[in-house]
Order: sequence, then C-alpha cells, then structure tokens
Amino acid sequence: MENKRCFENRYVDYTGALLSGQGNEAIVPIVIASIEKIMKKVPVDSSECDGGLYDGPAGVAYMLYYVSECPLFSKQRDTYLKNAKQIIDVSVKYVDREQDKNLRVAFLLGGAGIYAVATMVYKAMGFSDFVKPLTKFRNLWEVCAPISFLECGSDELFVGRTGYLCAALLLKQRGTIAFCALSSHCVCVSVCARLCVPVFVCPCAYMCPFAGAAHGLSSILQMLLSYQEVLSAGEKELVWQSVDFLMNQEQSCNWPAELGSIIQRENELVHWCHGAPGVAYLFAKAYLVNKRPQYLDTCIRSGELVWQKGLLKKGRGICHGVAGSAYVFLLLYRLTGNSKYIYRAGCSFIDVLHRTCVLMYPLFEGLSGTVCFLVDLLHPDKSEFPLFSVFV
Ligand SMILES: [Zn+2]
Repeated sequence: MENKRCFENRYVDYTGALLSGQGNEAIVPIVIASIEKIMKKVPVDSSECDGGLYDGPAGVAYMLYYVSECPLFSKQRDTYLKNAKQIIDVSVKYVDREQDKNLRVAFLLGGAGIYAVATMVYKAMGFSDFVKPLTKFRNLWEVCAPISFLECGSDELFVGRTGYLCAALLLKQRGTIAFCALSSHCVCVSVCARLCVPVFVCPCAYMCPFAGAAHGLSSILQMLLSYQEVLSAGEKELVWQSVDFLMNQEQSCNWPAELGSIIQRENELVHWCHGAPGVAYLFAKAYLVNKRPQYLDTCIRSGELVWQKGLLKKGRGICHGVAGSAYVFLLLYRLTGNSKYIYRAGCSFIDVLHRTCVLMYPLFEGLSGTVCFLVDLLHPDKSEFPLFSVFV
C-alpha cells in the first residue's frame, strides 16, 4: 500500500560510482550560503530563547560549533565560533533565570544541553571559563537522579535522564569532562530501576510507552550501553535483555511509534524521532559493544527501509525530515565501510536541495540540522547524528 508520508524513491541504487555534484566543491558553498541564511533568521537577543537545542537558537550555536571543527571551514572558523558564542551566551543567561530546576536539567529542550554546548564553544575558543557552564551542567545530576523526578518522561531523551547522560557523553567525547563515576552511576541506576519486569510481560505497562529515539526505549537503552562501565552485572543483563526485546518488536524493518502497537503501512513513520532511522542507533551501539552480527543486520535492514521510504514529505530536518533519515546511511557507512551508503546519502542530499520549503533555522526541525548533515557528507568517516553519537 502506498505510504502517504514519503515520495517514491526515483534514484537508481549504487553501481560503483558516486553522484556527480556530491563532492566538496559542490557542498562547501552550499553550507556557507545556508549558514548565511540561518544567521539572518536566528534571534540573537533573549526575547526568543525557548526551545533549547531542539528548536531554539542554542541549536544554531551547536551547528556553528560543529561546522567550525571541520578543517574545510578553517577560513570561517573564527567567525562561526564568535557567532556561536554570541548565541549561546544569550541562551545561558536565559536558562540561568529559569526557576524550574527540572527544566534546567532537560537536554534537548532546556538547560543541560545549553550548558554542554556553551562548554564546548568556550573550550574551542580557548577560554578557560568553560568551567563555569561545565560546573552548572555537572551540578544538575542530583536533580534528575530521583526515580520519578518528572511526572512523565523521567527517563527519556528530550527532558529526562537519558538526555542528561547523552550530554555528558558529548562532553566526555571532547575531553571536557571525566564524568564522575558516582553521579553517572546514580543516574543510570534510576533508569535501570525502571527497566524492570513489566516490559517483558506487557510493553504498555512499561516506564515508557514509545519505541523510537526521540522519547522512547531505544535511546534509553543506547545510553545505558554507553555507560556500561558503571553498571552492575545484573543491570547489564537487564539492559541486554531489553535490547533483544526491542529487536524482537521489529515489524518488516521498522518499529511502531508505541511499543506493542501494529504498524499501518500506509501511515508508517520512517523518522529519526519515531521509526527505524532512530532505533538503528541502538543496534549500532549494541553491535559496536559486542559485535553480534544480528545487531548489524538489524541496522542494515533499517537502512533498506529508509532507502525505500526515507524521502519524506515533511521537510528537510533531522527529526522527521529527509536529512534525519539519511543520517542512517552515514551510520551504516561508518559501521561497514561500504561506499553504497555514501552514494545513498548523496541521493538524499540532492533530494534535500530540491526542496523548496519555508526557511526555519532550528537544529532538529530546520536548516541547521541539514547543514550538519551536509558537513558530515564531506567527512563521512567522522559523521554522527548531531548530539547523538554511538562512537564514544
Ligand atoms: Zn520528529
């Protein structure tokens, strides 16, 4: 049955050559021009700082930082970092004033992500006062350690503990934080405490009703696999059982948005936020940790689904748009070294270019995430979904 959410893929599959127009000389100017457009749109005062890294100005600061790290943009580096600092400083001030400490601890929608990105930007600029936002970030772990610190979503990525762990991982990746084993352990223990029996009996009764990366079980487990060193043997066992449970929820290369529900093919979601293009990161991480081929096979099947149905009608972004789905090809390239995946990512890039849509600047729903994707096409061996690496 035809899917209403995607275009039919009109590209021929890889036959041994990449697309013309997929090289640096084509992509670098597009990145520079896109950043100019974004800078005209993004507010640089505190009037519109809502949305955090997900759809606020702070996400633009991350994108500028990310581009500035790529040697192909060494000429633009200082300007991009200066702009990133200007934007993130305003967001830090805004979130410092936030009275609700639960909102301060949120990764993609609140303070934790903003403090983490401020730390990264300051460090890249050589400022020693990167310790200020870093200290604010560190102090937040106690807020999210209590088991039910939020009424809803205590464990998920956007506002819950998984997000906090994800932000700490970003800082660790950049050598900015040797995250205290005690605090990461306390946070992980709370997640594991909720990862208990009901999932195997009735997924609906589980701590989290969703399967996908944005709010669901897959990113929760992915983070726990990233913090194996602080888990007990019993907790690790529970995590691996849950990974296999989720693997068995696959329905023809995809996962339903809600655990336990049946996918209706004509309305199937093939998004990073809900569906295989996001769940694939969990199985990539599982494969990187224990090399069991079934995890890699699951990722590869996710990639096949994206190739069939990943050219989405909803837009260019990374949350539920083309670039977000296409990131799975870059992930598969890093896992397998097969150039077919760079070719497929390139087809998605062409598709992204031909979209005429209203310019939105945010990282997850707008052009900033697309810019990160284009930069990753320039160095696929270093590519990673923004703020969501499995290679740490
Ligand atoms: Zn989405």
